Amino acid sequence: MVDTKTQYQKIKTEVDQAVLQVMDSSGFINGKAVQDFALNLSNYLGTKHAIPCANGTDALQIAMMALDLQPGDEVITPSFTYIATTEVIALLRLTPVFAEVDAKTFCIDPASLEKLITPRTKAIVPVHLYGHAAPMEEIMAIAKKHNLYVIEDNAQAIGSDYTFPDGRKKKTGTIGHIGATSFYPSKNLGAFGDGGALFTDDDALAAKMKMIANHGQSRQYYFDVVGCNSRLDTIQAAILDIKLKHLDEYIVARTAAADFYDKAFSNHPSITPPYRAKYSRHAFHQYTILVEGGKNSATMRNELKDFLAGHKIPAMIYYPVPGHKQKMFAHFKLTTEDMPKTDWLTERVISLPMHTELDEEQLQFITGKVLEYFNR
Ligand SMILES: *Cc1c(COP(=O)(O)O)cnc(C)c1O
Repeated sequence: MVDTKTQYQKIKTEVDQAVLQVMDSSGFINGKAVQDFALNLSNYLGTKHAIPCANGTDALQIAMMALDLQPGDEVITPSFTYIATTEVIALLRLTPVFAEVDAKTFCIDPASLEKLITPRTKAIVPVHLYGHAAPMEEIMAIAKKHNLYVIEDNAQAIGSDYTFPDGRKKKTGTIGHIGATSFYPSKNLGAFGDGGALFTDDDALAAKMKMIANHGQSRQYYFDVVGCNSRLDTIQAAILDIKLKHLDEYIVARTAAADFYDKAFSNHPSITPPYRAKYSRHAFHQYTILVEGGKNSATMRNELKDFLAGHKIPAMIYYPVPGHKQKMFAHFKLTTEDMPKTDWLTERVISLPMHTELDEEQLQFITGKVLEYFNR
């Protein structure tokens, strides 16, 4: 699905040097590279504060801790996402309330939001799934009307732009009160291990999140609030600082691959290529198509995955089981009747190889095999 090895070869000299420099300095924890990367990242995103932490899941957790949400408070989030988004809500004894997604964008459907809002609702966590921005204009308007916080799960969309109706552009992850992201190796800005970060323009929230990520410490050995231990390694920060300079060209490469796929699949009766809303610069973390046809689309989709695997082409189902159908949330007793669109999508999505190193020969081979499956 990804080719981090070839990507590394192209920046190997720079990366190796940066890693050796950290080793020589022995500043493994909170070394200079961590501050340098945080500053460069906040400048790139056009946000006041970027706060590094250990991973994307922690970033989401720290965001919710900083907002002083209380046990039983409700947080609205899509069921159609990676489990980390909803897991941290439950971990903090908050209640995840699952919203439906738009079948075109795969992101939270603003039309599904208002009927989920109760007096206990405190926050909305939209996910920019697969690299496509959620409809932030509508989400922010609903949040404002009901006095709710918005935490953007930007783990799959770093570098993506959102264009407001007045033409103003902002990076995803910098529109809500807090943005959270992940530097997991396969993400668009991937480390050589784990990493994550939080974004905000709010000085007080930034200070609080920094404190929470550092055991709730206000000054050395004075702990003001219950926090956690969530740091970005200096070595990872040094690597990420180099890769950040390439992020835009990485997105261009991903988009070129997506364009190739789109062209090959256009007007195909069984394939719907990913939608690109005008307001979103798609970061193409995933290239996810919908497969439709036959008596049972899920069976057809699964057969396509096996067919491709037979030709050594990896393909993945993100995600085979939506949040509301996971055992950990069985007590909510949600069924397909509650989340018809989410379940409909779950049966039809399939993600094809998507990364920065796909060449035309590979794309030709992959699209050829996908089309061959339907023409057999
Ligand atoms: C990857 C991911 C996360 C979690 O990030 P980790 O760094 O693996 O903890 C959260 N949300 C979404 C949507 C993700 O894709």
